[in-house]
Amino acid sequence: MTDIIVVGAGLAGLTAARTLKRAGKTVQVLERSGHLGGRVWSKQVDGYTLDVGFLGMFTAYPAAQRQLEYEALDLVRLRPSAVLRQEEGRAELVGDPLRDPAALPGDLSAAALTATDRVVVAKLVAQLLAEPAHALLNSPDQTTREYLLGLGFSQRSLERFFTPFFGGLVLDRQLQTSAALFRYYFKMLLTGDVAIPRAGMSEIPRQLAQGLDVQLHTTVTGLRAEPGGVTVQLEGGGERRAAQVVVATDPNTAAHLLGEQPGEARPRARGSLGSTYLHYAAAQPLERQRRLQLNALPTGQLNQVFWLQEEFPNRVPEGHGLLIASVWGVPDVSDAELNAQVLGELRAWYGPRVEELRLLAVDRIPHTQFPQPAGYAATLPGHSTPLPNVFFASEATSLSGIQGALESGEKAAAAILGDLEVLSRPRGA
Ligand SMILES: Cc1cc2nc3c(=O)[nH]c(=O)nc-3n(C[C@H](O)[C@H](O)[C@H](O)COP(=O)(O)OP(=O)(O)OC[C@H]3O[C@@H](n4cnc5c(N)ncnc54)[C@H](O)[C@@H]3O)c2cc1C
Repeated sequence: MTDIIVVGAGLAGLTAARTLKRAGKTVQVLERSGHLGGRVWSKQVDGYTLDVGFLGMFTAYPAAQRQLEYEALDLVRLRPSAVLRQEEGRAELVGDPLRDPAALPGDLSAAALTATDRVVVAKLVAQLLAEPAHALLNSPDQTTREYLLGLGFSQRSLERFFTPFFGGLVLDRQLQTSAALFRYYFKMLLTGDVAIPRAGMSEIPRQLAQGLDVQLHTTVTGLRAEPGGVTVQLEGGGERRAAQVVVATDPNTAAHLLGEQPGEARPRARGSLGSTYLHYAAAQPLERQRRLQLNALPTGQLNQVFWLQEEFPNRVPEGHGLLIASVWGVPDVSDAELNAQVLGELRAWYGPRVEELRLLAVDRIPHTQFPQPAGYAATLPGHSTPLPNVFFASEATSLSGIQGALESGEKAAAAILGDLEVLSRPRGA
């Protein structure tokens, strides 16, 4: 009998599996889809390597620093600044002036920020730099909107700066998301970079999975706890047995596999925030910025836009560009209609040259993140479950992102191994 079966080869499952294997356990990972990495993966389309969705990783994530070898991932670091796209194609560059001096004039003059806003930003930055990241994540909560207004930011800055910048990241145009999470992400941006492996985001799960026994195309449909172990039921009628099981699926599937249980701290469906991504090939990039472009208008479908070009030679043919446009939610329209709407918005940025863009793929992702409203941390499940010998690893135990997934894998493994030091690590550390 295998010591441990891990259900799901996302970042949480792979991290749990490699930690357990390194501790001397026999481990098998069962994965429903045909790829490693769960929501972090890349695919080939017409000579381009597309990440499925626009994905980047904060290099300051503490769990990423522990689990990943950055050098081997060959990270391309984005500039620590962003372009705010305003009315009539107007663009304002804002960012960290110490690390991207080109952003300084925009920081001082951007219409998105009043003079008072600039002073409040400076105070906020000083405050965030003084606290450890995990303390910010675990601090008293309210909505980001309430928090920012309380600090003295203008309504305009909320609409024109914080909504595109933070709302775009957590897929929440109303800024109802946890202010503790806002502080944590802002700190990540201040103390590190957003980076993408040169060969694509799937390099991250590939690195985590090295040496692991992973069976793809294997769907787990049920779990039966029995004396001395757990029986794992597979689609098609097969069964496997293990002494212990780690369920490392998305929270909605985990709730189904474990059975909905009363009590806030049990794994349960947490709902979903969706997003959609359009990938375009360009014979010549329409711009040269290695910066994220944010739709700073309160209207429109576009959320963020990013260009990949010569820094990604294995992903984009020489001289060409790859544009990824993310759209709010999962619009209920055909790809052709969505493409026409997105090109219409991009025309205001790039003019008639948008006709040169060739649509490669549309990715509709209904479960991109789970919602993290103010106070959500109080309802997070732990790593043990109501089923004996069954443990839970998922971003849903911490925060919806790569840090949450990696740290949950570490902790689910620690729960099995009795590693109290890892288990007592604060969320976000
Ligand atoms: C488009 C997009 C953009 C994102 N951008 C960022 C970003 O920029 N930065 C960031 O930090 N995070 C980002 N995230 C979030 C990040 O991808 C997730 O936090 C992380 O991947 C979650 O990992 P996980 O292992 O908890 O879950 P998942 O990745 O969901 O893994 C769960 C795995 O379980 C498998 N599974 C499910 N059911 C079964 C079953 N019954 N049997 C067997 N296997 C099963 C699934 O196929 C999947 O492989 C993004 C996510 C998306 C989708």
